Amino acid sequence: MQRIGLFGGSFDPIHLGHLLVAQAAREELDLAWLFFIPAAQSPFKPDSQPTPAPERLRLLRLALAGKTWCEIDEQEIRRGGVSYTIDTARNYAGRFPEAQLFYLIGADHLPQLPKWRAAEDLARLVEFVVIPRPGQAETPFPAPFRGRWLTGFPLGVSSSQIRARVKAGLPIDHLVPETVAEAIRNNRLYL
Ligand code: ATP
Repeated sequence: MQRIGLFGGSFDPIHLGHLLVAQAAREELDLAWLFFIPAAQSPFKPDSQPTPAPERLRLLRLALAGKTWCEIDEQEIRRGGVSYTIDTARNYAGRFPEAQLFYLIGADHLPQLPKWRAAEDLARLVEFVVIPRPGQAETPFPAPFRGRWLTGFPLGVSSSQIRARVKAGLPIDHLVPETVAEAIRNNRLYL
């Protein structure tokens, strides 16, 4: 059975925390493919305007260049509006009826899962996989969800931290790939 990972987020910008999540997921879940699925508008960030999709996509492409097992899926950007995971999960279940689908989330999202739209359906369609943040203990999955925790590699980097550092004129070297840092500088993002 083909094993496919789904990784949704704002990716504003993609950073090394995301890339280590991808690496750990590939190894620990033995994934054939991992799809990065940037949201048009995250339901968790209703008041914040994300950076325009073409810029976020450009950074994703730079970060994932050469990773032949990673794909960028623009379906949520194309749909527009608030991006709900259930719509994306149904799309994958339709396209890959034989595959086992894993949906990656940061540990910060786990307690809220039952409040996600169409939670019962979602829990049937995908297995959730939690990526630990540093120092975070494993907690059980809230019903009706099932899933597992990954082991490595916890890294305390976030997109909001990167945006704040750029705004403050601080370096972001080693927090994002070099090509991403260069594109952020050249396109004057997050100033
Ligand atoms: P922001 O700081 O703007 O909230 P973020 O860094 O959490 O952004 P998102 O694009 O919103 O980035 O994250 C996509 C997914 O990756 C979410 O499930 C999030 O919890 C998870 N994630 C982000 N950074 C990390 C990290 N360092 N370790 C583990 N999971 C992470």
